[in-house]
Amino acid sequence: MHDLLDESRSLILDAIANYSDLTITTGLNVGGTVLIDLAAKLNFTGEVVFVDTGYHFPETISFYSELSKRYGNIEFVSLSAQTPYEDGFLEDPAKCCEINKVEPLFNYLEEKAPSALLNGRTRDSARTRSNLSPFEEGTPLKINPLYKWTTRSLIDYSREESLSNHPLVSQGYLSMGCWPCTRAVAEGDDPRSGRFVGQGRVECGIWTRKTEGSIR
Ligand code: SF4
Repeated sequence: MHDLLDESRSLILDAIANYSDLTITTGLNVGGTVLIDLAAKLNFTGEVVFVDTGYHFPETISFYSELSKRYGNIEFVSLSAQTPYEDGFLEDPAKCCEINKVEPLFNYLEEKAPSALLNGRTRDSARTRSNLSPFEEGTPLKINPLYKWTTRSLIDYSREESLSNHPLVSQGYLSMGCWPCTRAVAEGDDPRSGRFVGQGRVECGIWTRKTEGSIR
């Protein structure tokens, strides 16, 4: 744990020092919660950006509010689609993610144009992320200071720091998404296997869309 913490703190400190417009994006997973806590304790005072799709669990919206009060020196920004695709998960889930989740974030990043994004993804959080590296080149640069952490180490850190997590984590929701598309997983399962169940995908598009928008 100490080695993990040292490396992550060093990556976060360097990011804060090198990018004055450094921005955190989060879906309020365990990784995001740990990242925000680590960054706050290293005096990060930038923005934490969250996309409210309109279909989050009520607990997610309450937790967002709790975090924004817990870290008063950080500015929490909640985005949503200007013209939501209502109940799109019933008709075309990929399009629903694109309109209700991906586009609001990409539009915001186009407007703000931050140099670098910090996020809480880990190699352990999905089979599609097993080769995640600390840096992913692009505009903006993506920095993944928790890339080596496991779900277990994230939960251990939360306990050691008396950090309250999203209330559904303890019920097996180890990757947090919208209520129509997210299920709890059994201990030891791929945390991401509870996302987009029956849809043949594990990513919403925020981290995989490459052809247009700001994260490329
Ligand atoms: S996760 Fe489901 S409800 Fe949420 S934006 Fe994507 S398709 Fe829509």
